[in-house]
Amino acid sequence: MAGDLEAKVDELRTALHRANHRYYVLDDPEISDIEYDELMRQLLAIEADHPELVVADSPTQRVGAPVSEAFAPVTHLQRMFSLDNVESEEELEAWQARLARVLGSDPTSYVCELKIDGLAVSITYENGRLTRAATRGDGTVGEDITANVRTIDSVPLRLQGSPPELIEVRGEIYMPVSAFDELNARQAELGERPYVNPRNTAAGSVRQKDPAKTAERALSIWLYQMGQVTGGPAFASHWDSLQWLAELGLRVNPASRRIDTLAGVEAFVADAMENRHANDYEIDGVVVKVDSLDEQIKLGYTAKSPRWAVAYKLPPEEKTTTLEEIRINVGRTGAVTPYAVLDPVFVGGVTVTNATLHNEGELHRKDLRPGDTVIVRRAGDVIPEVVAPVLSMRPDGLPEWHMPSNCPFCANSIVLPDGQAKAKCTGGFSCPSRLREYLFHFASRGAMDIEGLGYKTVDLLLTEGIVSDPADIFTLDREVLLGFEGWGEISVNNLLTAIAGSKDQPLGRLLTALGIDHVGGTVARSLAAKFRSLPALMRASEEQITAIEGIGPEIARSVSDWSADPDNIQLVQRLGDAGVRLEDPEPEEVGEEASLLSGLTFVVTGTLERFSRSEAKAALESRGAKVTGSVSGRTSALIAGASAGSKLAKAESLGIHILDEEGLASLLADGPSILE
Ligand code: NAD
Repeated sequence: MAGDLEAKVDELRTALHRANHRYYVLDDPEISDIEYDELMRQLLAIEADHPELVVADSPTQRVGAPVSEAFAPVTHLQRMFSLDNVESEEELEAWQARLARVLGSDPTSYVCELKIDGLAVSITYENGRLTRAATRGDGTVGEDITANVRTIDSVPLRLQGSPPELIEVRGEIYMPVSAFDELNARQAELGERPYVNPRNTAAGSVRQKDPAKTAERALSIWLYQMGQVTGGPAFASHWDSLQWLAELGLRVNPASRRIDTLAGVEAFVADAMENRHANDYEIDGVVVKVDSLDEQIKLGYTAKSPRWAVAYKLPPEEKTTTLEEIRINVGRTGAVTPYAVLDPVFVGGVTVTNATLHNEGELHRKDLRPGDTVIVRRAGDVIPEVVAPVLSMRPDGLPEWHMPSNCPFCANSIVLPDGQAKAKCTGGFSCPSRLREYLFHFASRGAMDIEGLGYKTVDLLLTEGIVSDPADIFTLDREVLLGFEGWGEISVNNLLTAIAGSKDQPLGRLLTALGIDHVGGTVARSLAAKFRSLPALMRASEEQITAIEGIGPEIARSVSDWSADPDNIQLVQRLGDAGVRLEDPEPEEVGEEASLLSGLTFVVTGTLERFSRSEAKAALESRGAKVTGSVSGRTSALIAGASAGSKLAKAESLGIHILDEEGLASLLADGPSILE
C-alpha cells in the first residue's frame, strides 16, 4: 500500500515537473491549466495526509521551473512567489477564516485586482532608470530579459516624480487580445499555424533570444506589486503603494479596488466574471490581497505563496480533449465544411461536442488529425474553436485527414472550385443534406419567414419525399399533410397560411432566401432596391451590379454565376409559376421614419433583453441606418448588450459612442440626437 502511494506521488511529480517545463521554459504547454491544477490538488492532498513524503523539490514546494540556459540567471532581491488558488466563495471564506485565526480578527481591508493572464516579470529601477528585468523562474533565480523588456512601449525606461534609490516592481507582461487576433490573422494569410492563446504567445515573445523579435510583438504590461525599495517613502498599505507606483509613471491597472468586506470582494469577483471580456486583455481570475502591510507581515508566507493573498480563479476557457473524428456537413449553398467530433468537454461554461473546422486548408494549417489530443477554446460568446493539436501527445503514424472525393449524403463528387477555400458538393438539390439546410434557411426569419417550417417539419417533408426543391413548398397538398401522424387541421392550416403569406415577401427577403454566396440580408436589400425584380437582376452585368455602393466584384461575380446556372434559372421559373412574387411594387414616398437614421452605421453586439440581435438590426435598418458586423472609425455607435466582448473594447479604444438597450430605444424613437 505504502509502495502504491509512493508510486502515485512519483507519477504526479513527474507529470507536474514535465508540465512546468513545457509551460514556463518552452511556453508550449501540453496539458490544460485545469488538468495541471487537478494533478497539483491530488499531490497536495496526499502530501497533507503524509507529511513524511514531502521533499524539497516537490512541485508543491517550488514555484515555476528551473530557468532556461538561453538567458543569464538573475537572483531576485526578494523571492517571487506563486499564489494559492480558490475556486468558490466557500474556499474564499475558509481563506479569510484562516487569516482571522492568525490575526485575531478579520483583515481590516482587501485590495482586489484583476489577475492578468500573462508572464510575471520583476523590473528594477536604480535612481529612476531601468537597470534590470527578469522572469520569475523558480522564484529565487529568474532569467535576465532586460533587453527584451526594454522594447515594450508601456514599460518606462525612466521613472517620473521622485524615484527612490532603488525599486523593484512586479507585474505581468501580456499581449492585448486585439494584437493577438491581428497576429493570428497574419499567420492565416501566410498559411502558417495559428498561435494558441495570448498568454503563451506573450511568454514566448518575451523570452526570445533576439530582442528585435520581441520588439515586433505588441506587448503591454500591468504592474501590481512593490518589491524591494531602498530610499523610498514608508507605506502602511498595499493600496497606497500602488498609488505611488502609478505616480512614478508605472502602468497600474485602474480596475483595482480597495474593499473592506468579504461580501464586497465576492461582488468584485462576480463583476470580473461577468465582464471578463470587456477589456483588451485576458484575465484568469481575481487576486485578493490583504491591504495592511502590518497584517501582511503577521501572516507571512508558505514555501510557495504568501498567506496574505489568494487567486480566485475564473472557470477555464481552454481545455484539452480528444478529436475523435472529422466529419463533413453540406450547407445550403452546397459548401462542404469539415467539423470536429470531440470527446465532450466542459469549457467556457458549455459542453462542447462539435466544432467547425471551416475548410480543409485551415485544418491542415493547424495540422489537426482524427485521434489527436487537441486544445479547445471557448472565450465569451465566441463559438468554440479547436485551436491546435498537442503534438507531443500524438500517437505515432497518425494519418492526416483528407476531404472525401464523394459526398457521403448523395454520392455525387466533391470538388474544390478554383481559387476557393471551400469544397462543394456537386449534387445540387439532389443532395439531401444541402436541400435540408437550404429549406431551413429559405423559410427562416431573416428570409421568407415561414413560421412552422423549422428543421422538424423540413425533415418530415424530406423523409416523406414530397419536397425535392424549394418551389415544392408552395404546392404542398393539404390532404397529404393531413395524413401525417400528429398533423391536424390547425397545424396544417397554420403552415399553409404561413407559406401562402410568404409569396408576397419583399424581393430583398426572397434574394436572401435564395442563398446566393455572399448575399446576406444587407446586400440582398441593396440589390432589390436597385433592380426591383429578380429577372432584371439575373440579366444584369457584373458592372451594373458593382455600380451599387458597397457591392464589390466578389459579390457581383457570385450573383452572375448564380444567375447563369440552369438549375437556378429553373428554380426561379418554378417559384414564379407557384405564385411567388419576383418583383417589388413601385416605391412609395420614403416616410419620415424610414430615413430617421439614414447615413448612420451601427454595430450590434452582446445580448439585449428586449430584442434579438436580428430584431435590433431590422429596426435600425427600417429607419435607414446601415448595420455592419465590425467596429471601425466609420461606425456611428456600438449598441452593446450584456457580455459584449472585443467589439466593445475596440469601440472604447476608438472613442466611438456606445449605447445600451435604453440608448437603442431612444435612438429608434427620437433619432440620432442621443449621439450629439
Ligand atoms: P498563478 O498563475 O496561479 O498565480 C500567480 C501569478 O499570478 C503571479 O506569479 C503573477 O504572474 C500572476 N498575477 C497576475 N495578476 C496578478 C496580480 N494582480 N497580483 C499578483 N499576481 C498576479 O500561479 P503560477 O505559479 O504562476 O502558475 C500556476 C498556474 O499556471 C497553474 O494553476 C496553471 O493554471 C498554470 N500552469 C499550467 C501548466 C500547464 O501545463 N498547463 C503548467 C504550469 C502552470
